[in-house]
Amino acid sequence: QRSLGNGRQSPSSPLKLFGQAKKTANEIFRHIADYIVDVDSFVQEICQVGYIEGIDFQDTIKGFKDKVTGIMEVLGRDHMKVVFFGRTSNGKSTVINAMLREKILPSGIGHTTNCFLQVEGGTDSQEAFLLTEDQPDEQKSIQSIKQLAHALSSVKLESNSLIRIVWPKEKCRLLKEDVVFVDSPGIDVTPDLDVWIDKFCLDADVFVLVSNAESTLMQTEKNFFHKVNERLSKPNLFILQNRWDTSVYEEDVEAVKQQHLERNLEFLVDELGVTDSKEGYERVFFVSAREALVSRLNQDKGTPTPTGTLQEGFQARLFEFANFERKFEECISKSAVKTKFEQHTQRGKKVTGDLKALMDKTFTLCLEQLRNKEWERQEKADELDYKQKQLSLLTVEVKDKIKSMVEDVERKVSSALNEE
Ligand code: GDP
Repeated sequence: QRSLGNGRQSPSSPLKLFGQAKKTANEIFRHIADYIVDVDSFVQEICQVGYIEGIDFQDTIKGFKDKVTGIMEVLGRDHMKVVFFGRTSNGKSTVINAMLREKILPSGIGHTTNCFLQVEGGTDSQEAFLLTEDQPDEQKSIQSIKQLAHALSSVKLESNSLIRIVWPKEKCRLLKEDVVFVDSPGIDVTPDLDVWIDKFCLDADVFVLVSNAESTLMQTEKNFFHKVNERLSKPNLFILQNRWDTSVYEEDVEAVKQQHLERNLEFLVDELGVTDSKEGYERVFFVSAREALVSRLNQDKGTPTPTGTLQEGFQARLFEFANFERKFEECISKSAVKTKFEQHTQRGKKVTGDLKALMDKTFTLCLEQLRNKEWERQEKADELDYKQKQLSLLTVEVKDKIKSMVEDVERKVSSALNEE
C-alpha cells in the first residue's frame, strides 16, 4: 500500500478520516439545507391557504438558511494545520519538504526563513503562487524554488508576517488531504511569543518541534511550548530529533539517544503534561530529514540515490521518519475532526432543534386555527338550523293564517249568497 510516484496514493492513510468526516458533515448540512427549503415552501403554502395568519416566519427561516450556508462555507475551508518550530537550521524546511516529497521550501545556508511560510494546497489547474499579507489578492507566480527563495529574500519581512505558498494539491498527497504546513522563523530570533501564538498557533492541530540531535533542547524552545500550553489545552506536540545521521560515528550513540529520549519525555510528560509516558514514546523520533528528502526525491524520479548521500544505518532512520509520519497523520486527523467538526455539529444541532421547534409551533397554530374555523362553522350551522326552524314555524303560522283568512272569506261569501 506504499505510495508510488509522487506519494499520491496511500489508501490506508489515517488522514482519510478527516476527508471522510468532512464529506459526511457536508452531506448532513446539505440535507439540512434541503429540509429548510421544504419547510420554507410548506410554511408559505399554509400561509397562503390561510391556515396560519398574522405570523411571519420568513425572517426566521432566512436566518436558518444563512446559518447553514455559513457553516458549509467554513466547513469547505476547514483543514488540518501543523506548525513547525525550532532553532534556525535545525532542519524545519527540510522536514516539510521531505513530508511533501517535493522541494517546495528553500532550505540551507542563506535561506533562513525569517517569516512564517504556509504551504497549502491550491486548485489543480493552477500553477504554484505566493500570497502576501499586504497584497492578499495578488497571486505572485513561482515556477521554481530558486525563484521562491529570491522572492522571499527580495522583500523585507517582519518575523510575524505570513507568506502563503499555494501549491497544486495534486502534486502532494498531504496537501490533497487538506494538511496545511506552517514553517516558522527560528525560535532563537527572540520572537514576540504572544503574537506568534495568537496569530499562528490557536487553530493549529499539531506542533512539531524540530530539534537538533547534536544538542539538547534550548530554554527558548521550552519556554515557547510552556506558553502554548497555557493557551491551548493539551496541544499535540511531536519532537523530531533531526540530523540523527550525524551521530552515526559517535561511539556512545545509544547512550546519547537514551539521554535525549529521557530529557524529551521529561519535558513532554512531567513539565508540560501534554502526554503520558506510554504515549510519549510515540511523540519523539530520531530522524534525518535530509536523508528522507534525498531518498524520496530519487525514489519518485526512479533514479538511484547517489552514493555518499545516505549514512550508515539510513534504513532505520528512513523507517523512523515514516513511523513519525504515521503517528502524525493519526494524531492530526483525529484532533482536527474533533476540534473543527465538533463546533459545526453543535451549531448544526442548534439549527435542526430550532427548525423542529418552528415546525411544532406551526403545527400547533394550524391545529388551533382549524379548531377555531370548525367552531365558527359549527356556530354558523347552528344559526342556520335555528333560522330554518324559525322559518318553518313561520311558514306554518302563515299557512294557518292564510287558511283561516280563506275560510273566513269563504264563510263570508257563502253567508252573503244565502242572504240573497
Ligand atoms: P531550518 O532553518 O530549520 O528550516 O533548516 P533547513 O531545513 O534550512 O536546514 C538547514 C541545513 O541543514 C540545510 O543545509 C539542510 O540540508 C541541513 N539538514 C537538514 N536536515 C538535516 C539532517 O537530517 N541531516 C543533515 N546532515 N543535515 C540536515
